[in-house]
Amino acid sequence: MTVIYDRVALIGLGLIAGSMAHAMRAGGLAGHITGYARSAETRQIAQEIDLCDSVHDNLADAVKDADLVVLAVPVGAMGSVMAEIAPHLAKGATVTDVGSVKQSVIDAVAPHIPDGVHFVPGHPLAGTEHSGPRAGFATLFVNRWWLLTPLPDSVETAVARLDRLITAMGAKTDRMEPTHHDLVLSVTSHVPHLIAYTMVGVADHLGRVTDEEVIQYSAAGFRDFTRIAASDPTMWRDVFLHNKDATLDILGRFTEELFVLQRAIRMGDGQQLHDYFTRTRAIRRGIIDAGQDTSVPDFGRTPGAQPAE
Ligand code: NAP
Repeated sequence: MTVIYDRVALIGLGLIAGSMAHAMRAGGLAGHITGYARSAETRQIAQEIDLCDSVHDNLADAVKDADLVVLAVPVGAMGSVMAEIAPHLAKGATVTDVGSVKQSVIDAVAPHIPDGVHFVPGHPLAGTEHSGPRAGFATLFVNRWWLLTPLPDSVETAVARLDRLITAMGAKTDRMEPTHHDLVLSVTSHVPHLIAYTMVGVADHLGRVTDEEVIQYSAAGFRDFTRIAASDPTMWRDVFLHNKDATLDILGRFTEELFVLQRAIRMGDGQQLHDYFTRTRAIRRGIIDAGQDTSVPDFGRTPGAQPAE
């Protein structure tokens, strides 16, 4: 139990901030945790479940004297929130964010960072399809990656201190260049979400025709799609609007591959389909070998703890 930051301010009290609060409490990693939420309902729930040591309805009070400020709001809201807290930040404080997209958050936040305040952008690759102040849990980050995308002028001691907090919450850290992060995440998370949203949309249309058969006979693969497609609409709207270039690049490649498979099916080219699926099966085995998932049929997931990102 080592206090790493004396006063941590969580801005936005949803799944990620809530999980951080639980994890920091469990590890005794923060002296005092303040929380800010814009809605009275979220603040009331946060107080009811004792999520933070103090809950605030204005940003200035929440960040006062904090040595770590965590921006945990949707990607599209990061810039305006940062502009509002900037005049109230203590000298020497570190600001980080947990946004799923990095370059556009950096573009929106960095210009507002005052002199003497450190900005270390980050992204925990952990989540569930649940959102809000009740969704968080202390073990969300255990054995998950948390990518940091420091800026060229980021001060190493500030980055290392944040790294220590993240590691103490159970996550593994790595560093990445922001646009590279956005490309990698568009492949591993953003476009897969879009495909899930689309597939559930297709099934929805079909469901109307086939009188709910889609739900009744829903196989495991489709059920996983519905879980992913239940993710927070605001968060995911912002992810696509703010990771536009990488998403469109990967979607273009995806469409080309889909047409290749579509043609193979039309032409009855079983060899091509078999070769393709053999390659993709090898990728799955690589993920298991790297310890990113397990080979058991339910992926080793416990209810409520499955990775959404
Ligand atoms: P969440 O559970 O939906 O919570 C979002 C919080 O942000 C809520 O407290 C909400 O306030 C607040 N908020 C929403 N719009 C706001 C605005 N315009 N101004 C101020 N506050 C606003 O979200 P989350 O899943 O924790 O996600 C937070 C961030 O983490 C996002 O940037 C997301 O990209 C990133 N992230 C999410 C996941 C995931 O799987 N969920 C994983 C990694 C990173 P109210 O409750 O008062 O409405």
